[in-house]
Amino acid sequence: SAYTMLEVNNNDTKELRDLSESFNEMMLDLKENDEQQQAFIMNASHELKTPITVIDSYSQMLKRFGKTREDILDESIFAISDEAKRMKYLTEQLLSFSKAAQAKENFRPEKLNLVDMISGIKNRLEPVYGRNIEVHHEADFMFVTADADSLDQLLKIFLDNAYKYSSEDININITKDKEFTRVDIIDRGIGIPEEDLGKIFNRFYRVDKARARKTGGSGLGLSIADELAKMNDIRVSVESTVDEGTTFTLKFEHGKEEQDENR
Ligand code: ADP
Repeated sequence: SAYTMLEVNNNDTKELRDLSESFNEMMLDLKENDEQQQAFIMNASHELKTPITVIDSYSQMLKRFGKTREDILDESIFAISDEAKRMKYLTEQLLSFSKAAQAKENFRPEKLNLVDMISGIKNRLEPVYGRNIEVHHEADFMFVTADADSLDQLLKIFLDNAYKYSSEDININITKDKEFTRVDIIDRGIGIPEEDLGKIFNRFYRVDKARARKTGGSGLGLSIADELAKMNDIRVSVESTVDEGTTFTLKFEHGKEEQDENR
């Protein structure tokens, strides 16, 4: 295999043994990473293959019956347009996936005012959603340390979900206590069953395939959000009640910027 493992024996010096041990650990990490990437590509291709297969078979039907059977014409047009939408969404998510990888490479944490940042996102997304995003903030300046691009991407994922899985205004609260600055993204939507809460951050996981399908879900968003959050040392938690709504919470531990302010 491409992953070399070093062997040492007891006659070797402790330094050499330690060195080869950390080398082997690194190799195992790389191997695991590669395997995860492989699994991801397989999953992604499979997810793309399904709509392509459906579009293909409906086009065959259209070729044969489209000119004579109005019912088949109707059904096919709807099915093809649905599946095309799904593919569009999925490719967008894959793009956002590689964007996240890019963010990882260009990772540059800086001191950011969450109030400005979130107001900017609100102004950008409200016209797209055609819905209000109500932002409440305890103060006008609430600083955290994070990489701006990845934080923007991260917040957008939660907001897109709040939009997709609810039909009312979305609320964002920015608060802080002794330990954390905290952002709550609150929707009054369909909610998430308790037994699914632990799984929604997994790649390609969707609570209800039929339901998620209608909203054009791919199950990738939250797994990307999870990675972006880890990169930025943000803790993410979720609380939800079916038919009432969902709150995703982001917690930023106070770091240097806080000490600066108190100095
Ligand atoms: P998707 O593209 O399917 O939305 P995500 O990874 O973003 O993928 O979310 C995974 C699943 O978690 C979704 O399919 C949905 O079932 C559930 N989910 C995420 N956010 C919400 C929310 N705000 N309200 C209800 N369900 C949600």
